Amino acid sequence: MSGAPNPLRVAIIGAGPAAFYAADHILKQSSSAEVDMFDRLPTPFGLVRHGVAPDHQKIKSVVKGFAAVATSPRFRFYGNVEFGRDVDLAGLARHYHQVLFATGAQTDRRMNIPGEDLAGSYPATEFVAWYNGHPAYRDEAFDLQTPAAVVVGVGNVAIDVARMLSLEEHELAATDMARHAVAALARSQVRDVYVLGRRGPAQAAFTTPELKELSELPNVDLVIDPAEAALDALSAAELERANDPVLRRKVELIQSLATRPPAGRPRRLHLRFLVSPEALIDDGHGRVAAVRLARNELVGSETGSLSAKPTGATETIAAGIVFRSVGYRGVPLPGVPFDTRWGVVANVAGRVCSPETHELVPGLYTAGWIKRGPSGVIGTNKADAVETVHAMLADAEAGLTLDPAQPTAAAADEYVRRCCARPVSFADWQRLDALEVEAGARAGCPRVKFASVASMLAALAGEGGPAGN
Ligand code: NAP
Repeated sequence: MSGAPNPLRVAIIGAGPAAFYAADHILKQSSSAEVDMFDRLPTPFGLVRHGVAPDHQKIKSVVKGFAAVATSPRFRFYGNVEFGRDVDLAGLARHYHQVLFATGAQTDRRMNIPGEDLAGSYPATEFVAWYNGHPAYRDEAFDLQTPAAVVVGVGNVAIDVARMLSLEEHELAATDMARHAVAALARSQVRDVYVLGRRGPAQAAFTTPELKELSELPNVDLVIDPAEAALDALSAAELERANDPVLRRKVELIQSLATRPPAGRPRRLHLRFLVSPEALIDDGHGRVAAVRLARNELVGSETGSLSAKPTGATETIAAGIVFRSVGYRGVPLPGVPFDTRWGVVANVAGRVCSPETHELVPGLYTAGWIKRGPSGVIGTNKADAVETVHAMLADAEAGLTLDPAQPTAAAADEYVRRCCARPVSFADWQRLDALEVEAGARAGCPRVKFASVASMLAALAGEGGPAGN
């Protein structure tokens, strides 16, 4: 790295998978680079902690690799430090040569239909954050005193939400689901969950293992209408052309599950295809009472993919709670160019640019969902982060960086402590982690999560553990 500053000082905003993959690659590729990682929460790991379903512990083991990155003497974690509230771009530009934004997609897309904002209609993103113990959603209340719930969308998030609504209390309690959510779901009256796909089985976004898991829940009948599982001529031709064995197996599984007779189990999960919500119906008191659906057929579109078109037939499903699970969306960061159309930081292969002119903004970079949109699995962020880091190191080599007046670890630390009353270090997080795991061992689950920032800071001050959050 002959032309690069030495040490090259990098700030990463966000501490999810994309952030850790990027930090890992920077530290491995440059023997002198120093990385400081910031997160608005005291806890690291982003969606691995607050997005991955609580009953998918194996997926969460990816954090072991992230914790190994944090052992580098050239890495520091500053949790409980929010970009835009505590630190800002001007401040970071005084201490770092490069700033990488990896803040994920923090909000949801909307359906844009009448009734969407009635009481009882929620974004799936909020429900997921709530049951996973995200402190910002700790006090949300989901009214589950209704026999039927609707989940709109057939991506893996919709499947997670449907599964969480369908599990029994003892199944939930054995996971690391936030204890307030286990208690609320234990009181849930929901027995029928309707998951709505606007297109057909060949276009479903969920993956086969997730569907198989649904079909194996001991207390749930998975109900699929064979007529909706059948492929129309356009989908059959598309499937033939795609010649994709994974997709073919998924369609075959859907069709075979559709022939399975219900076993009279206490809960039912209805997986529907070719239906779109047209409106949420008011119960007369501002709450959702039902969802009116348009039946769809598939037609060719300009993009080449098949799209849903209403046939004119409609139906109504009575349901007191509705979750829209139609995708996440990125949130703009103060002072950072944003592409409002796609909900991402404007960028060219990870280099931040003007959304209008595409002119590059030296020293600023992005990775993960805030770079490319909310797609792919955790591992997808590795190649994505590597692409960005490649650009960062090439630019550093060419001298295209910010021009910090005080590019030292000590000056940056002083700046952060001036801006934030209680930054949380990685060692602090490891203490919280140990307390959570200890509490989990007592409760018979992987961990009992701290679900408020106050309870985390109190525990770090030696007062209390996660049970009292
Ligand atoms: P997603 O996979 O993009 O699925 C979004 C779903 O919403 C699609 O079925 C889409 O249908 C539907 N949709 C969009 N707009 C709609 C509308 N207006 N009306 C009705 N339906 C609409 O998104 P996601 O489920 O939020 O997941 C995000 C990413 O995280 C995905 O890559 C996912 O695989 C990943 N993830 C993985 C796991 C796992 O590995 N277990 C778990 C959770 C999430 P169309 O296809 O017709 O647009």
